[in-house]
Amino acid sequence: MPELPEVETVRQGLIRGIQGRTVEDVLIRRSGLRYPFPEDLPTVAGCSITNIRRRAKYLLLDLDDGRVLLSHLGMSGRYTLFDANEANAAGKPLLATVNGGVPVSAFGDRTGFGGKHDHLEFVFTDGSRAVYTDPRRFGIIDLFSSAEETSHPLLVDLGPEPFDPWGPVDLAQRLEGRRTAIKLALLDQKTVVGVGNIYACESLHRAGISPRREAKGLVRANGAPTKRLETLVGHIKDVLHEALEAGGSTLNDFAAVDGTLGYFAHQFAVYGREGQPCQKEGCGGVVRRLVQSNRSTFYCPSCQR
Ligand SMILES: [Zn+2]
Repeated sequence: MPELPEVETVRQGLIRGIQGRTVEDVLIRRSGLRYPFPEDLPTVAGCSITNIRRRAKYLLLDLDDGRVLLSHLGMSGRYTLFDANEANAAGKPLLATVNGGVPVSAFGDRTGFGGKHDHLEFVFTDGSRAVYTDPRRFGIIDLFSSAEETSHPLLVDLGPEPFDPWGPVDLAQRLEGRRTAIKLALLDQKTVVGVGNIYACESLHRAGISPRREAKGLVRANGAPTKRLETLVGHIKDVLHEALEAGGSTLNDFAAVDGTLGYFAHQFAVYGREGQPCQKEGCGGVVRRLVQSNRSTFYCPSCQR
């Protein structure tokens, strides 16, 4: 599933592609994804997109009428952008059905899946289009006034952003007294947002910290971070930045807005490497897999303590 670096990559692609454009029409091909689409979604037509922000893995598109369009990519959501020439070439029909079945887009395999999963399409006044494709339909679309953003149920409990000024002291505050395993604490979006399964495994491996270690064991009695926690925070930032620079990982069917794939997946040191030798110089250990809260954790028992 797209993790924070992938979502940030998509955000940057959308900024280059659609920020400043005015929506002429919203083509809606089903009633919803994980939740029903908001009833007023068609009223996005006529609005301009003034800014595209991100909070955790939620994309927040600011509209010029003071509303915010929220988009979460779920497991398999992605946007594909077509300029006016490409959109014109694809042509109509925009809401056609195949043999009376699922409405498809005019883009066919250019968005994957023969256009069957192109659930939403934003048509802009300049003739360009943004197509939202989501075969597994775990994505979320919502629309609300910007005044409601801070109290929005999906956003209200989110912890700090790892790319904001954020450091070991902040993390120590959120781990103090918690007996939960450090790996699970990192996945908890109230601790810090966007450190997904892959990046938690990789950061803990680099820091030499066992994924099973109690979170509170990385905090001093006075609430200050230990040296090991400081090291971990440095690695979390590094791992996320590297993923961002690589354009996000390639797991599942994620693609950036221009259809190209990232390649950070090939650089994982422990994730998905069960039974293979640890890549840390001089370690000699073997990567193991364990299940924590129904998620696979990959780690090296020799160098992670
Ligand atoms: Zn090792």
